[in-house]
Amino acid sequence: MHNATLKSLSASLSARAFSSVELTRHFVNRINQLNPKYNCFITLDPERSLKQAEAADRMRSAGRGQPLTGIPIAQKDIFCAQGWLTTCGSKILSNFTSPYDAHVVERLNAAGAVTLGKTNMDEFAMGSSSETSYYGPVRNPWDVDKVPGGSSGGSAAAVAARLAPSAIGTDTGGSIRQPAALSGICGLKPTYGVVSRYGMIAFASSLDQGGPLGRSAEDLALLLNVMAGFDPRDSTSLEREWEDYTRELGKAVKGLKIGLPEEFFAKGAAPDVVRAVETAVGEFRKLGCETVEVGLPNMKLSVPVYYVLAPAEASSNLARYDGVRYGYRAPEYADLPDMYKKSRAQGFGPEVKRRILIGTYVLSHGYYDAYYIQAQRVRRLIARDFAEVFKRCDVIMGPTSPTTAFRIGEKMGDPVQMYLNDIYTTPANLAGLPGLSIPCGFDGKGLPVGLQMIGNYFGEAKMLGIAHQFQQATDWHQRMPPGIQ
Ligand code: GLN
Repeated sequence: MHNATLKSLSASLSARAFSSVELTRHFVNRINQLNPKYNCFITLDPERSLKQAEAADRMRSAGRGQPLTGIPIAQKDIFCAQGWLTTCGSKILSNFTSPYDAHVVERLNAAGAVTLGKTNMDEFAMGSSSETSYYGPVRNPWDVDKVPGGSSGGSAAAVAARLAPSAIGTDTGGSIRQPAALSGICGLKPTYGVVSRYGMIAFASSLDQGGPLGRSAEDLALLLNVMAGFDPRDSTSLEREWEDYTRELGKAVKGLKIGLPEEFFAKGAAPDVVRAVETAVGEFRKLGCETVEVGLPNMKLSVPVYYVLAPAEASSNLARYDGVRYGYRAPEYADLPDMYKKSRAQGFGPEVKRRILIGTYVLSHGYYDAYYIQAQRVRRLIARDFAEVFKRCDVIMGPTSPTTAFRIGEKMGDPVQMYLNDIYTTPANLAGLPGLSIPCGFDGKGLPVGLQMIGNYFGEAKMLGIAHQFQQATDWHQRMPPGIQ
């Protein structure tokens, strides 16, 4: 059961081969057995999950089943879910039970999906390794001494270890695609505005976007069909007609133009990563695609620009954690200002504090123009580079991450090294474009490599179709971490 795709699970549920209660119990048992090894989940509530499963079984028997009805889905602990502890990986929210559902959670619930649990993540989604969590690091199922990527590392590792059929995550600068790549699964960051941010704990609001993590492009399409949709409570949610993200899965890719930006293949990426990505591009040529060399001259500025804008927005968003209305409050303090200070000093971890300091600095009087405004200008140039490139090709391909999974602890002492991981993923966030990562091979140590696709605005269905054709011709997405069966 734990190896089946969403599509086949859905078919089995509708054929009554097993019930949602049986399926959910199966995953709960696997989690009980294996979660201590990987630390994927922060919160589990099997009783609640099983109640949802019972309701899903009733929905199906009443003929009201939808594709996801009865399927257990793991949720990154950044999504507010009513009655669930919702921590965002932080001590400051370690006592916060959400009184409401995020829009995405409402939609999953309405579709009859089962909440399997809340997954571990970098604190406030700040990180590329899932090590900054208050709840301890997540371990990569391919090698438990390695990170699973981040910040949606709990979601990615849970899917890779077959502790969940699929999961949801968020991507501000790569946090869906990069952990998908490092954990050998698939992940999609939609066009900015396609998935509502309502109830998704804010990190950098102009960049944050929720999306699916799963084992195939087809599974991502099924999940996105439920996650996407207009929501008036998010002022940047796009009011568009509902689309069926599975509609291009059967479409041939012959004649399609793939743009290969030289910057994605220049020195910087590990040779094993480049080799695997180039082999995958070769596979697309065999399928009849053409390749064109393109350039994204301002891409090299995406990491510095991102690390000005994201902390700036974070410093503003995180001002709300003051120990007053909800969240952690320091047990002892002298007066109100001291209570704020101590609650924040004790409640936030070092990476979050670093970002608040950087963000406050770049927004301060006298520096605002030099850093924040300047970064916004460069952001526009990066978006323009993409607009030029999409005049010449249908989709861009390159690596998702410059390296495969690195050792736990390896980059924790060196934030700049950690930030440089995001070189290939941040451009899509800065431009608001959709990005997808799918497994495309392994390095010499048997660790998975991710192929990234970046599409034009609203190119999700097209990219999922392209990825599906690749997955019909190859089996990288079906490979399992050693010891997982
Ligand atoms: N690694 C990036 C950061 O640390 C991206 C995180 C994310 O996408 N949430 O900010």
